[in-house]
Amino acid sequence: MSDTTQKIQAVEHAKVTPSRGYLGLSREDWSSFLESQSVPKFRSNQVADWVFKHFAKSTSEMTNVSKDLRAILDNQFDWTLPEIVSALDSKDGSTKLLLKTTSGQFIESVILRYEGRVSLCVSSQVGCKMACSFCQTGKLGFFRHLTTHEIIAQFLIAARIVRDEGRRLSHVVFMGMGEPLDNYDNVLKSVQMLVSPDGFGLSARHVTVSTSGIVPKIRDLAKDARCALAVSLHASRDELRQEIMPINRKWDLADLKTALLEYQRETGDKITFEYIMIRDKNCGLREAKELVKFLHGFRAKVNLIPFNAHPGLPYQRPTDDEIRAFQVYLAERSIAAPVRYSKGLDVSGACGQLAAKTQDSLHLAPRRKSVIAVDNLPS
Ligand code: SAH
Ligand code: SF4
Repeated sequence: MSDTTQKIQAVEHAKVTPSRGYLGLSREDWSSFLESQSVPKFRSNQVADWVFKHFAKSTSEMTNVSKDLRAILDNQFDWTLPEIVSALDSKDGSTKLLLKTTSGQFIESVILRYEGRVSLCVSSQVGCKMACSFCQTGKLGFFRHLTTHEIIAQFLIAARIVRDEGRRLSHVVFMGMGEPLDNYDNVLKSVQMLVSPDGFGLSARHVTVSTSGIVPKIRDLAKDARCALAVSLHASRDELRQEIMPINRKWDLADLKTALLEYQRETGDKITFEYIMIRDKNCGLREAKELVKFLHGFRAKVNLIPFNAHPGLPYQRPTDDEIRAFQVYLAERSIAAPVRYSKGLDVSGACGQLAAKTQDSLHLAPRRKSVIAVDNLPS
């Protein structure tokens, strides 16, 4: 078969095959696709290098790739990235990126700059099914899962911005909009591409998946992925946890603890617990005692996150003294629990306001949620 015939076939094929987002492909996927087009292996590595090492956003950047091959790639894959609607820099060094997907929905990613590293908080879904009572996304409901392409696109967009500053995006946390383990396959593939030395090559300890506690998927994750795990605990007695996190009705604290102890045994990794502090709700002495009891058996880290107030949410953050008392109680029992404040509050006001404004002006769903800058996740 001549080169031209092959190319024509490829183009014909593209007409009937729905386009796949190019960022959904791992290096092996590139290799098998290009092999099917009779492209030599070293060429497929060149293409993959453009994506994974140079963060290419179009084939026109692929200067050592032939025009013909670029045409095949253009025809076979979708090269559209979410549009950056706004990029707001905060005084604290974070940048909130409001992105519009090709389907017209908003998601948000936040670049978090620290002295020795740069981290990105990514969204995994548009909305969320879990309906936690303190969370803006929870109020929004669920729209859809993000594809692997859309998850990796958030990384690629941010990596290019950070590269222009002469720095490297080294950490990713799945703490934006959505419940990552509810979108398991796409999140898993994204994590694998982020940590693979053949992919973006981040350290596995620098990619953190945060979950509200989808127990069977925690078990799967222990087997399937090399990454860090954070758990949104927020209460250590069932009655209270199910009041603020409905998922606790499906998998209660005993189920969660069993799965997490298994996870710890299987991976040997420390688990990070996130604990939002809500005034007069979950941060008195009683709750501190319950937390200590729950943590028994874990080699855990705890991050205390003062609740971020939003219009429409019925809670408040505790006073500094209350936060301190809770922290001291834990410290006296050898549990270090640093307090982590949300970043970027000055650029979007409280969480949710940035996208809420956009929603007003564009009449497009949805609002987005709080994004927490949890510093010092497993490193
Ligand atoms: N769905 C996953 C990951 C995204 S939420 C999860 O729940 O773990 C990321 C973190 O932001 C979670 O710990 C969540 O509980 C927290 N969060 C949500 N709303 C918040 C608020 N109003 N103030 C402080 N933290 C909040
Ligand atoms: Fe979903 Fe996490 Fe918000 Fe709960 S806290 S509603 S799981 S995004």
